[in-house]
Amino acid sequence: KRPLLEINDLKKYFFFKKQPLKAVDHLSLTIFEGETVGLVGESGCGKSTAGKTIIRLLDPTEGEVLYNGTNIYELNKAGMKKLRKDVQIIFQDPYASLNPRMTVEDIIAEPLDIHGVLKGKKRRERVVELLELVGLNPEHLHRFPHEFSGGQMQRIGIARALALNPKFIVCDEPISALDVSVQAQIVNLLKSLQEKLGLTYLFIAHDLSMVKYISDRILVMYLGHMVELTDSDSLYREPLHPYTQALLSAVPIPDPDIKTDKMVLEGDVPSPINPPSGCVFRTRCKQAMDICRVSAPEWKEVRDGHFTACHLYNG
Ligand code: SF4
Ligand code: MG
Repeated sequence: KRPLLEINDLKKYFFFKKQPLKAVDHLSLTIFEGETVGLVGESGCGKSTAGKTIIRLLDPTEGEVLYNGTNIYELNKAGMKKLRKDVQIIFQDPYASLNPRMTVEDIIAEPLDIHGVLKGKKRRERVVELLELVGLNPEHLHRFPHEFSGGQMQRIGIARALALNPKFIVCDEPISALDVSVQAQIVNLLKSLQEKLGLTYLFIAHDLSMVKYISDRILVMYLGHMVELTDSDSLYREPLHPYTQALLSAVPIPDPDIKTDKMVLEGDVPSPINPPSGCVFRTRCKQAMDICRVSAPEWKEVRDGHFTACHLYNG
């Protein structure tokens, strides 16, 4: 497979009175064409910030992102315009991300208008095509967002993201605000669109309940750090990192082969402005050892294609 995005040692810090809040620290990941990488972690773990920085909705503090081999942070104006067509984002809250005073037609056509492509009849035809692609009815053209259910609104958000024929989409918790019954429908829609259109996704989620069904590989983040990365099956079958194990034990999985040594995750994520020394997870880790306080575990390939950062695997 061909690498579409190569993220190299990306850092995104926010500064408060010169104190850095390290929202994303040392993120390195290659996303291959046509795959879905799940990005999982509790709120405040830096997932959204990572998603926005890798498509340059935010500027990085350090590091690079190569898109088709070119560093997106060094693009000129014309390059940025092309990037804005190629990469899109779908947001968590469809209610908040769709302008309530715009019709569905104008919402979906907004990217076309911004980029000055397709006007008049062609614009209308494209919007109708997009509505059908996401399972909505062309009769919905003139309606307003409040006339739709949450799931339908997310479909509108997806249609808008597809308007310019993107290659890569950051799906920032697109199902978290939806009823459980609707979540699977949206995940299935995203999967079928991926097959039809050859899309590549970064799919962000705060737990491991649905992410398995869409992701080829999953990256788990904690407090801005990568803690585990592997293919979906391995992550669910043999989670290595205590944080992943704790996240998984919170998910009911109807599969008898999967390990279920219950380990409940207690307490909150510590403040990223004052993170624990050594391993960032140690304040909540039931297996923490002396070394975890003094030294940060290295990112290591423990099994073939299965990476984690934990002192338990440094032997
Ligand atoms: Fe727990 Fe130590 Fe591993 Fe961190 S490095 S997850 S504290 S065992
Ligand atoms: Mg978020």
